[in-house]
Amino acid sequence: MSTAKAIQIKAHGGPEVMEYVDMDLSPPGPGEVRLRHTAIGLNFIDVYMRTGLYPAKLPAILGREAAGLVEAVGPGVNTLKSGDRVVYSGLGAAYSTERNASVSSLVQIPDDVTDEQAAAIFLKGLTAWMLLSEVRPLQADEQILVWAAAGGVASVLIPRRAMAGRVMGVVSSDEKAAVATQLGCEEVVLASDDVAARAREWSGGRGVAVAYDSVGKTSAEASLNALRPRGWFVSYGNASGPVDPIAPLRLSQGGSLIMTRPGLHHFAHERPDLERGSAALWAFLRESGLEMRIGQRFGLADAAEAHRALESRQTTGATILQP
Ligand code: NDP
Repeated sequence: MSTAKAIQIKAHGGPEVMEYVDMDLSPPGPGEVRLRHTAIGLNFIDVYMRTGLYPAKLPAILGREAAGLVEAVGPGVNTLKSGDRVVYSGLGAAYSTERNASVSSLVQIPDDVTDEQAAAIFLKGLTAWMLLSEVRPLQADEQILVWAAAGGVASVLIPRRAMAGRVMGVVSSDEKAAVATQLGCEEVVLASDDVAARAREWSGGRGVAVAYDSVGKTSAEASLNALRPRGWFVSYGNASGPVDPIAPLRLSQGGSLIMTRPGLHHFAHERPDLERGSAALWAFLRESGLEMRIGQRFGLADAAEAHRALESRQTTGATILQP
């Protein structure tokens, strides 16, 4: 038995429920490897797990995404060996210095991607792949609206889409507007503005083809009003709270709109899907030369501070926890 450090919650609540604790680690079991984390990705889903918006079995170690080095392999493992560098996005307990992990969730990091870049981009990049390639592939001439356009997911979604089409971003400050423009937005609007009216104006009065909405409660109505007939309301997050119920008739009256609420788990859980999405992400990084924008770094012990920053809209790009 060895010991690792981890961020644990025993009850749901604010950042103050996060405790830096010692965690016992048994040797890796069948189909598992021992990982020493080198970089941990912070994601808004970690906030939902902490608050209880998404249910968690307590006590729980927070976090879903990290990169690390394989230090030992368990019985029956022949796809990975000691010294391999891997990343994952679908496991709990990522806020830890070391952990055992099932090889079925791990993906090898290409030689030309650093551990920190992998931890910064893997979950967010797979989410962008899901939204742009799987949920509703876009035509070249379609204009899209992206909320939280200086945030983590947006930092890969916008450059990816901007290579082929036109993007309008929504942000909460002028400083974030500059970031969104750098990422590739043709037009940026403040969330305090009349977003739907600005989107209609930008799209020649017609409305946008797709609204990618991660803000949720406070943005859903503006997203619906920004859409062209038969446009897609892709609601994929709840940063401001869950979206209120939307009646089917509202979709009809908006112009036969289509609403979907995708979750990455349903697109990248099966191994073939995970491998396909990862391959697409690494290929995109190679072709575009994109470096994920890392806006801030915190020590693992200071993860509560990182949550405070994310929840109070102070972050831009990705946030890394250093184990
Ligand atoms: P971000 O870095 O995008 O941070 C969230 C951003 O949301 C903030 O920076 C802020 O941008 C905006 N925001 C608007 N209203 C609020 C509010 N009331 N409180 C806090 N933030 C607010 O986070 P991530 O990149 O980690 O995640 C982005 C979104 O994508 C999240 O909603 C997350 O749940 C979702 N997601 C969904 C997945 C899925 O499978 N469905 C997978 C991964 C992520 P601004 O200040 O510019 O408004």
